[in-house]
Amino acid sequence: MTASHTVTKIKIGDDGLDLEWSDGHLSHYDSKYLRINCACAECVEEWTNRKLLDPLTVAADIHIEDHIPVGKYAVQFLWSDTHYTGIYPFEMLRKLCPCDECKANAES
Ligand SMILES: [Zn+2]
Ligand SMILES: [Zn+2]
Repeated sequence: MTASHTVTKIKIGDDGLDLEWSDGHLSHYDSKYLRINCACAECVEEWTNRKLLDPLTVAADIHIEDHIPVGKYAVQFLWSDTHYTGIYPFEMLRKLCPCDECKANAES
């Protein structure tokens, strides 16, 4: 894995988020999956990394209303549940990629 992954294309659809990476990799994320993995101070305790967000409280039909680029390394999503403090660094998004290839890499 290279040190930094850059996202070249961000597409938000009804079924979630699609990312295109600088190395040609394509990632698809389910909206709910992404929302549950929010790492902001409201969702994860800063010092202990303990999850404060109960996945059961996230609506099944949660979706991304909008997104804001944060510099060249991250993106901030505005969620339909009005949560908007979460910043998703590309590095983290790459780790969250649920495709078989990335899962296999994470396990090895
Ligand atoms: Zn959050
Ligand atoms: Zn992947």
